[in-house]
Amino acid sequence: MNLDRTSLRELADGLRSREFSSVELTQAYLERAHHQNETLGCFITLDPERSLIQARAADQRLARAEGGPLTGIPVAHKDIFCTAGWLTTCGSRMLSNFVAPYDAHVITRFNEAGGVILGKTNMDEFAMGSSNETSFYGKVRNPWSLDHVPGGSSGGSAAAVAARLAPLATASDTGGSIRQPAALCGVSGIKPTYGRVSRYGMIAYASSLDQGGLMAPSAADLAWGLGIMADYDERDATSVARPEEDFFQDFERPLTGLRIGLPRQYFGSGVDADVAQAMEEALREYERLGAVRVDIDLPHSDLSVPVYYVLAPAEASSNLSRYDGVRYGWRAQQYGDLQEMIGRSRAEGFGAEVKRRILTGAYVLSQGYYDAYYLQAQRVRRLIQQDFLQAFEQCDVIMGPTTPTPAFPFGAKTEDPVQMYLSDIFTIGVNLAGLPAMSIPAGFGAQGLPLGLQLIGPHFGEARLLAVAHRYQQVTDWHRRVPVYAAAGERV
Ligand code: GLN
Repeated sequence: MNLDRTSLRELADGLRSREFSSVELTQAYLERAHHQNETLGCFITLDPERSLIQARAADQRLARAEGGPLTGIPVAHKDIFCTAGWLTTCGSRMLSNFVAPYDAHVITRFNEAGGVILGKTNMDEFAMGSSNETSFYGKVRNPWSLDHVPGGSSGGSAAAVAARLAPLATASDTGGSIRQPAALCGVSGIKPTYGRVSRYGMIAYASSLDQGGLMAPSAADLAWGLGIMADYDERDATSVARPEEDFFQDFERPLTGLRIGLPRQYFGSGVDADVAQAMEEALREYERLGAVRVDIDLPHSDLSVPVYYVLAPAEASSNLSRYDGVRYGWRAQQYGDLQEMIGRSRAEGFGAEVKRRILTGAYVLSQGYYDAYYLQAQRVRRLIQQDFLQAFEQCDVIMGPTTPTPAFPFGAKTEDPVQMYLSDIFTIGVNLAGLPAMSIPAGFGAQGLPLGLQLIGPHFGEARLLAVAHRYQQVTDWHRRVPVYAAAGERV
């Protein structure tokens, strides 16, 4: 079986029909990952022995004709998910010595389903970034062009899926960290509704925005994975109890009459001409499938980036106060008293971007500024949510670009944090409103770099969203393209 072209369904069929074993499949992916990791930097940790223990156990289950759809399939996990016995760094020196003593709920779900942990993927430090340049473990390269960023913060997961080093990868999205790297690396990604996936054991950045999700080549693969991942968990107070759902339920439903809302604000200046053209072509494809176009307004969308950069740092400054060098994580070698130990440990353990966020967050929460910044941002967040709710009275799905431009070269935005923050201009509003959204491959720009189409649905509308993406993938092949870099064609 050619690993460049295989869907999860084909892998599952191959395992069940004994065409190959989970050990063989895992070895094939591990070999690929091992060879390409030096250049691409996708994985912070690979631990073949541990992976193969799970693969052997999966083979035993399969031999007894037990297990589920994911049994025996290797999955890469973003290094933000606590994974028992595995180094779990969150891309930071602060956690560079942290072996998680327990599993995040997401990891438990995949383990129980018989998935094989392939490795832990690289990411921007504490998920703060849009280019994967802030990781303590070095940059991840975009497999479509090694001089370009893969996007962030889940750049490791995106590049690993793009280079077909993993058939499925978990990730997290606070302001775009699944969709933006998925777009820049030419893979499909889903950020579920806030509350759909447990945050238990997912290292906290901005808790009211963080949500775990997935990346894979196709929407069908994502539906497969989301069925495992989406689950009520009483250990996460914001987890929402919902009846179990089949995320393939709408796959055969025709798109006739589907109302696609195009936000005027997502097609203005600043959007690359190639991106705008790809969006037009995607829209025409949808119209051929029977969908109709509706122009909509999201009047407060230009406020989403400023609002996010008040709220996310505020929550981060609180969440990251736990790293004090006392109980776990990085501790400075030299210090006089306790205060100095904490101060030095944090000074040494955190990188520049994380410090910038903590400072901003402490500032907007401080007495005298709280009302002017934090409270005001909360009010505008409500307006942004209302914009989306009103838009969904006129349309079934919102469509637009995931990012204003394709991947940019390394260093292009590192000197100017505001330029970097603007990379997420089309993705952040979704997190502020708690909505589900996807990015799917929709073409290539002039330099041969992938472009992403964003689809946004109403709360808990994942099944429809996945089906809308799937229909498009039945009539296009952007999601099947693999970078030359990956096209080694290894077989199992
Ligand atoms: N780029 C945004 C940030 O740096 C979003 C990151 C994310 O979604 N985790 O905060």
